[in-house]
Amino acid sequence: MAFEGLAARLQGTLTKIRGKGKVSEQDIKEMMREVRLALLEADVNFKVVKQFIASVKEKALGQEVMKSLTPGQQVIKVVNEELTTLMGSEQSKIAVASKAPTIVMMVGLQGAGKTTTTAKLANYLRKKHNRKPLLAACDVYRPAAIKQLETLGKQLDMPVFSLGDQVSPVEIAKQAVLKAKEEHHDYVILDTAGRLHIDESLMAELSEIKATVNPDEILLVVDSMTGQDAVNVAESFNEQLSITGAVLTKLDGDTRGGAAISIKAVTNTPIKFAGMGEKIDQLEPFYPDRMASRILGMGDVLSLIEKAQSNVDEEKAKELEKKLRTMDFTFDDFLEQLEQVKSMGPLEDLLGMMPGMNKKGMKDLKVDEKQLVRVEAIVKSMTPLEKRDPSVINGSRRKRIAKGSGTTIQDVNRLLKQFEDMKKMMKQMTGMQAGKGKKKGKG
Ligand code: GDP
Repeated sequence: MAFEGLAARLQGTLTKIRGKGKVSEQDIKEMMREVRLALLEADVNFKVVKQFIASVKEKALGQEVMKSLTPGQQVIKVVNEELTTLMGSEQSKIAVASKAPTIVMMVGLQGAGKTTTTAKLANYLRKKHNRKPLLAACDVYRPAAIKQLETLGKQLDMPVFSLGDQVSPVEIAKQAVLKAKEEHHDYVILDTAGRLHIDESLMAELSEIKATVNPDEILLVVDSMTGQDAVNVAESFNEQLSITGAVLTKLDGDTRGGAAISIKAVTNTPIKFAGMGEKIDQLEPFYPDRMASRILGMGDVLSLIEKAQSNVDEEKAKELEKKLRTMDFTFDDFLEQLEQVKSMGPLEDLLGMMPGMNKKGMKDLKVDEKQLVRVEAIVKSMTPLEKRDPSVINGSRRKRIAKGSGTTIQDVNRLLKQFEDMKKMMKQMTGMQAGKGKKKGKG
């Protein structure tokens, strides 16, 4: 999982201050020193780190006191907010031209994931926004690039425009846009060439394509694994082409996170999407606030809920969200969730999004899918009253439930405890949610 080291270090630092009823200037100074080291170690650009620390310090010292949070929590809230701001405050949407087709030009170094992301983006636009994109193969230098895009197009059942590798990329781009108009595509996505390093001829060609087709969006695809380099690449591309956004690929890998945190600050262009794997549907809109919460170990409940929404009935997911927030969550909901969780993919991925569950903590937490079957049996053996109000489950009820589900009393006890822990965790999390903290969190 991305950010593992950074997350662990920041969480360690924040844990020290979390419960404090009083935070001195010295506490903040010490904490900021650790935060600075953690960020530098994660390969965050040093200028960005400097600014970040200064602004957190200022806000943490000068902020007004909020009754609902302890001073320690308040400092964490500031860190969370500043981290969010650093990565872009709001989620940035992809452009829509007033007149179709919207022209999206994908640029980046070779191997960053341009071709893959071109296909992923097309898939995303069709799936989430009901668009009809045309893909265009403008990379005539990398031997397999055209074929690769065509294969992806076939896989998606989506048209790919190509004129082979003997026609200039500028001409291909121009023709692709004409074709898109003719055939009423609402997006045309140009997969351009990359090089191993930035060079003048590459930039000249990209500039020419830009001047010729006048794209609505120039998305820079960068490999998040390359850290500082990714930021330098972004800076150069931005100088030459004025990019409109970035796509960070390979965030599923073991990246230290520096690129994600610095790119917006250095180039002043938003990260619009994140690549979360090699598969075609592993592209996600980039949410700075969720990313910040994930880094700080507040979990990513919103992403989790969204994942639930795309897999399950939307109404039900909304209901669940409300229940989680109001703590009105019963074993009936739990059971329903269990069914849905099973259709949502690997449990470990889901758990990674939960508050307090970074991968480090998960090493001790073996996810045994068989255990789910047992859990399900236990819940199904409860009476409606027991499901609604587990506090009535006394000794004899426990015995009956164990017998009914073919499990042991220990199994039943364990589940009841886990359920309570989960509710507690949710409660804590709700209290921690920056800015939304109406409830008193104990931290
Ligand atoms: P291009 O040269 O920029 O067009 O790069 P490609 O699209 O060919 O991608 C290079 C490699 O990165 C391929 O093996 C892709 O499968 C892989 N890749 C692209 N995006 C991601 C991602 O988000 N996560 C992971 N794990 N791999 C990715």
